[in-house]
Amino acid sequence: MADCIFCRIAKGDVTADIVYQDEQVIAFRDIQPKAAVHLLVIPRKHIENLYDLERADQQLIAHLMLTIPKIAKQQGLDAGFRTVTNTGHGGGQEVWHMHFHLMGGDMPPMQ
Ligand code: AMP
Repeated sequence: MADCIFCRIAKGDVTADIVYQDEQVIAFRDIQPKAAVHLLVIPRKHIENLYDLERADQQLIAHLMLTIPKIAKQQGLDAGFRTVTNTGHGGGQEVWHMHFHLMGGDMPPMQ
């Protein structure tokens, strides 16, 4: 998706503070952090959100989920972390490329 900001970050066309990447997944720092560590973990493939996932994405989503705790450990979040995924307008989604917020350290409690 040429006009998708997260696709452009994944392709290297837009700069981001990337902390992890492999063939399928990339993680970078959120530009408006809500926690001491606030990353966005995304698939390189353009998938809008959880509603857009298909059976064919099973391996990809499993890989992404298994990667999240590895990244959290790399970031020193041994005490734990929070993941949030906003889906659709009703979920407050602003960027229409599926992403998992990975937050840890100092952060506000969930409302
Ligand atoms: P949401 O779609 O509501 O789950 O949140 C989108 C998140 O993407 C927000 O927390 C933004 O701060 C973040 N964001 C938007 N553009 C960028 C960017 N270019 N680099 C890093 N984070 C971004």
